[in-house]
Amino acid sequence: MMLPTVSVNSGAPAVSPPFWLLAELTYQCPLHCAFCYNPLNYDAVRNELTTGEWVRVMREARALGAVQLGFSGGEPLMRDDLEELVAEARRLGFYSNLITSGVGLNETRIAALKNAGLDHIQLSFQDSTRELNDFLSSTKTFDLKLKVAKLIKQYDYPMVMNCVLHRYNLPHVGKIIEMALALGAEYLELANTQYYGWAMKNRNQLMPTLEQVRDAERVVEEYRERIGDACKLLFVVPDYFEDRPKACMNGWGAVFLGVAPDGVALPCHNARDLPGLNLPNVRDVGLADIWRTSTAFNAYRGNDWMQEPCRSCDEKGRDLGGCRCQAFMLAGDAAATDPVCSKSPKRGEVDKVIRFASQRPTGLDNAHVIEQPIVFRTNANSRTLLQTDT
Ligand code: SF4
Ligand code: SF4
Repeated sequence: MMLPTVSVNSGAPAVSPPFWLLAELTYQCPLHCAFCYNPLNYDAVRNELTTGEWVRVMREARALGAVQLGFSGGEPLMRDDLEELVAEARRLGFYSNLITSGVGLNETRIAALKNAGLDHIQLSFQDSTRELNDFLSSTKTFDLKLKVAKLIKQYDYPMVMNCVLHRYNLPHVGKIIEMALALGAEYLELANTQYYGWAMKNRNQLMPTLEQVRDAERVVEEYRERIGDACKLLFVVPDYFEDRPKACMNGWGAVFLGVAPDGVALPCHNARDLPGLNLPNVRDVGLADIWRTSTAFNAYRGNDWMQEPCRSCDEKGRDLGGCRCQAFMLAGDAAATDPVCSKSPKRGEVDKVIRFASQRPTGLDNAHVIEQPIVFRTNANSRTLLQTDT
């Protein structure tokens, strides 16, 4: 779809409208995933937007030109006004998507969501086995997810299944595909862990080896040939194992507009971890101003912010210098070249992590590798980490 451009004000460059609005309705979630992308200090965020405030945000986003709306979290089903918000999204003409763990999606609610006009449901699994699914989420939810998958089919939704991949479940990728086929999924997103939030905290434990990644890729390719269009398989190699970064968010402030549970507007999922951005809040500023003129949304638009080697690189139009959050986490500077890039002077930081992963599990030859326990995403851990950081 072609998107119109809107002019900002005289002298400023034209800014395209956002394509999609991600409404992170709440950080509360019954699960405790070790790879959750929510901020470590999520438990400190309590002042959630009200129903009326979300309705205003959706209206402003639609007026700006956004066409897709994701309801996310945390677990969006924790909000009992979800059906009301979905109905408003339908009235406004959004294509709406519920991104859920499935916990809380009983027959009453799915019927109400269908009636309200929800277009699409994405259901996450942690693994194809009960043991690992329940271990990684630190809950007993595998059987419940199987029931929810059947409900989604019963209510005639296209089944979009998502499974975050890492060291523990990459060897199960064939079984995960079999499970998706058995449940009638039309799409399966095999999403390799992105190392932000809780996943970054647990990076040493979750990071796979190169062999695991390549083996899984092969398995996915074999299934693609065998099953054709019966289920579309999406598998993206974790960028630590590439030598060029991803074009993060298709560009900062280009298509994505996130709103956190407390109203903080986000140019990317993890922007609140970046220092000095002065992120605006939808409670204080209209969405159009946030999108077009706020310092935060303009901080990394275009190319002017780039440093060398990106500034003079002939590939900058393709990857846009990579991910700003990754640059900050690995190079200590959000405007640096993403260290995943082999041209980055900090690429060694990425190689160090891959080397560590290749040395686990500890054996006689690598007794120097120190094992750490997984830190699960719990309210108590969030509070402890907040205290540790301050
Ligand atoms: S990743 Fe897990 S803990 Fe985090 S919001 Fe999703 S289901 Fe909840
Ligand atoms: S130097 Fe920058 S623009 Fe060039 S390939 Fe690497 S990340 Fe991309």
